[in-house]
Amino acid sequence: MPSVRQFNCDDGQPENTMTDQAEKAELHCHLDGLLCPTYIKAVQAKGFCSGLDLGKLQRLYPIRNLDEWSRLGEFLAPFVAGNGKLLLEVLRLHLKALAAQNVRYAEIMLCSFLRTADDRLHQLLHEYQNVAADLTGIKVSYLWAIGRSPDRARFEQKIERVISLWRQGYIHGLALAGNEKACKVKDYADIFQRLADEGIPVEIHAGEWCGPDSIWDALEYGYPRRIGHALSLFDDPALPKHFEKNNVHIEFCPTSNLRLSGVRRIEDHPILKAMDCGLSFSINTDDPGHFECTMNSEYRLLHAVRPFDAGTCQHILRNSLSAAFGNLPQGRAQPDAPPDGVSTVAPSPPVS
Ligand SMILES: [Zn+2]
Repeated sequence: MPSVRQFNCDDGQPENTMTDQAEKAELHCHLDGLLCPTYIKAVQAKGFCSGLDLGKLQRLYPIRNLDEWSRLGEFLAPFVAGNGKLLLEVLRLHLKALAAQNVRYAEIMLCSFLRTADDRLHQLLHEYQNVAADLTGIKVSYLWAIGRSPDRARFEQKIERVISLWRQGYIHGLALAGNEKACKVKDYADIFQRLADEGIPVEIHAGEWCGPDSIWDALEYGYPRRIGHALSLFDDPALPKHFEKNNVHIEFCPTSNLRLSGVRRIEDHPILKAMDCGLSFSINTDDPGHFECTMNSEYRLLHAVRPFDAGTCQHILRNSLSAAFGNLPQGRAQPDAPPDGVSTVAPSPPVS
């Protein structure tokens, strides 16, 4: 089992006993983003992924920008395509590492093996449901992540399977990820209306590489309960007000944004403004295996520029649990009741 410090990088931040020991919840982490030399080495020892050249993989690190991240993705793609078993073994290791960091609840975005035949997929997802059964102190739920695509027929096909998996209880929601410029949520407004009618909770990556219009597009046509990244949130003063009024939660991923999304310094990250405004947000790793970050290193990174106390950690945990799509951990901090007048169901689209 890898230790908590399974990755080399902690962004140069010293250990912080208070934030390390704080209970945490993570809502934005991609299953394929867990892959890293440490985990691959561990699962190779168990006989998985034996064809992968570990030396070559190690030479692709560190991941400092979008080009390097894309090259890593291309290298890993043939080894993970349709390989839900390999990813399950990696997840098993990762959940142990999360539990050791006092992460009590994790939502993992599944991908890449949706094309697996039904009977095999159900068996596999059954194993995913039980992956944390022998771990105490952490619960895991799953979203299915679908990449943005201009190919409507393919998108519809994936949505059909997601709806089927949701009805059978295998997943707790949908995440729309991928290249934000590939299509607008508006292009699929009818599909998102259908998901809302089904009651499927939706998360949309928006404002990661595009401006506030992209976030408005997601809010207006996607009925999201959560927005991932939202880096351009404060470029339109009406947006933070909308988030506050409708209790839309933001999944911030600081290290990912420093590496891929043009945030130059952590001091410039909108999470600091969101703290000042009292918006509901979580702190997340996005692709921890690629960025060699951990939940503890993300907290330390922020704490270094905006020291916060144990009460703030508790508040972040409660807001994160309030925004969770899956079953919450028992006997742990429960979410705060929403403020008066704030609904816990999917927010309404903005009035234009
Ligand atoms: Zn993401």
